[in-house]
Amino acid sequence: MLRLTGVEEWRSYCDDQRLANRRVGLVPTMGALHAGHTSLFDAAKDHGDVVVATMFVNPRQFDDQGDLDRYPRTPDVDRAMAEAHGVDCLIEPTLAAMWPDYPGPTPTTVTVRGLSDVLEGAHRPGHFDGVASVVAKLLTVTGPCRVYFGEKDFQQLAVIRQMVRDLSFAVDVVGCGIVRDADGLALSSRNVLLGEDARQRALALSRALATVTAAPASASEHRRTLREIVSGAGLDVIYADVVDPVTFAPSGDADSGDARALVAARIDGVRLIDNGPVVLKGEP
Ligand code: AMP
Repeated sequence: MLRLTGVEEWRSYCDDQRLANRRVGLVPTMGALHAGHTSLFDAAKDHGDVVVATMFVNPRQFDDQGDLDRYPRTPDVDRAMAEAHGVDCLIEPTLAAMWPDYPGPTPTTVTVRGLSDVLEGAHRPGHFDGVASVVAKLLTVTGPCRVYFGEKDFQQLAVIRQMVRDLSFAVDVVGCGIVRDADGLALSSRNVLLGEDARQRALALSRALATVTAAPASASEHRRTLREIVSGAGLDVIYADVVDPVTFAPSGDADSGDARALVAARIDGVRLIDNGPVVLKGEP
């Protein structure tokens, strides 16, 4: 596995792959890798791509300095996991390479209006600007590729799809399913911050989503069920909503068909998110 840190060597590596008629599969991560991340490496490998993974804890997408400081960092384990899952080139760009003006503000920002303003975006001001800006940079340096994202961050995936469409990036966005522990908890780098008791209570998120996924109901009923189960387990609900899976417009009680349920909650100071499909049974 090749390891690179500089933007120019990363750019030429990807150029060389395309010149040799290979397809580049980019997997952006913030490190602290787990089976959710490696499922993306595996998906890229299965597509026959040359797998290029980035590991960069992007400060611009953190709205809370404490959250950034506490974000888990396990670079040695990450390198071994990436190699074991067939990553061909692991890129660990320096902060200076990514954001030369940091810690000052970076004048150039990519904003995806609308999708960035609701749910995660409403509760984490500037978060999706940070995400869209860093992904725009990763795609610009990498060049034409397939880029893999997990549905774990369902709204992020929607924001990226919109940005790629609007700015005509020469990339195919591939969304991959959520990887869960055997007990249902969606894998997340933040799960290591949970104590045993908090981890048990955190199962309410996946339990709530499994409940609403299992039976069609109106949007209000789904929202009520989500809240009841999550707050009943002693978690602080940040939001529990049902929206159109593409536009993220809130679902109404007259709506029927496919929608997405998304939940964010805090437990012992750790912020967790999860989501799943729901079917709406419109009320006449
Ligand atoms: P992160 O390192 O948290 O920025 O995540 C990097 C990528 O891994 C994103 O596309 C995430 O959606 C994806 N990812 C994180 N957790 C999971 C999971 N449990 N299942 C599938 N994909 C995931």
